[in-house]
Amino acid sequence: MAEVKFLNIVKQFEDENKGKVFAVKDASFTVKDKEFLVFVGPSGCGKTTSLRMVAGLERQTSGDIYIGDRLVNKVHPKDRDIAMVFQDYALYPHMTIRENLGFGLKNLKTPKAEIEAKIKEAASILSIENLLDRKPRELSGGQRQRIAVGRAIVRNPSVFLFDEPLSNLDAKLRVQMRVELSELHKRLEATIIYVTHDQVEAMTLGQRIVVMNAGEIQQIATPEELYEKPNNLFVAGFIGSPPMNFVKARLEGNQLHTASYTFTLPDDKVKMYKKYDGQEVIFGIRPEDILSTKLMPSVPDKNVYQVNLKVVEHLGAELLIYFDIGDDQLTGRVNADAKLKQLEPTELYFNLNKMQLFDPK
Ligand code: ADP
Ligand code: MG
Repeated sequence: MAEVKFLNIVKQFEDENKGKVFAVKDASFTVKDKEFLVFVGPSGCGKTTSLRMVAGLERQTSGDIYIGDRLVNKVHPKDRDIAMVFQDYALYPHMTIRENLGFGLKNLKTPKAEIEAKIKEAASILSIENLLDRKPRELSGGQRQRIAVGRAIVRNPSVFLFDEPLSNLDAKLRVQMRVELSELHKRLEATIIYVTHDQVEAMTLGQRIVVMNAGEIQQIATPEELYEKPNNLFVAGFIGSPPMNFVKARLEGNQLHTASYTFTLPDDKVKMYKKYDGQEVIFGIRPEDILSTKLMPSVPDKNVYQVNLKVVEHLGAELLIYFDIGDDQLTGRVNADAKLKQLEPTELYFNLNKMQLFDPK
């Protein structure tokens, strides 16, 4: 197995309409041996291009890529010891599943008995033994997805590359496959680079996550770190669902003034954000850190305010509540037992122990 290293990777495309497009701008990072690393970011941020450069399907404009100790800049895709699972699965429609699984190995002139053994093993890992003689069109989306993974497994590569493999599946199946992929990673002890635009998928699958935006790496961190200590507004707003609330504010000592309310910062936050004292800032608070005082054993003496709820949405165990502070609309996620009602005033506690401040620029 192997680590994968990007050193100052730049990828530029010539676009007929837009001219020069930087798909990736100076990216450097190392995927550790046996790590499950997820690339996440909005559509067009350079995820697929990054993966295709690891695979050798795209050549970087500048910079070096290492797989293990090997500089692979000039190594042909088939000699990179990687296997890629594509979003559309890319199965051969006229071949049986068995033939699809064995195709790559056959091309590498692997002996027939060995191919059969590898297919059998992969089929058992993925519980697809009963599908081997069918054609892809006879399978469901979830089954096809498994075959695409199986085709990667039989190659026994050092590095698995996944490009949004679950995005064509329905929500329930996606959750199921997510769990299976995590189990598969443990079982295969392989290095995995996994690309998705879905932050929930990234947070649940990734041991570490690379957050990208517009071709630039915003942060590389564990799911916990991304949630607790986002580097910037982009990461803070991208990770978490519903996303973090942002409110224009001004910090004066331990007082945070917004259009409608003045919040009081706890001492450790005053210290942490001393650099913003006397300045305009963006106040960030996550929906889950806004609580209904109805469900609190005692009402705190600070940061409790009366708000008018514009909309209340029921999620089952929780409610999403929407209200305004000045021009900013906020979302709260509170326990449904609070029984909050649309268009009624209610009292909310803002847990400033979990707040973050950001530079508005
Ligand atoms: P993602 O996978 O994150 O959605 P991509 O890596 O596919 O993003 O694309 C990143 C950027 O590079 C986009 O602006 C896209 O339009 C551009 N791009 C990708 N491939 C090509 C190409 N072959 N020619 C021109 N531009 C491309
Ligand atoms: Mg893509």
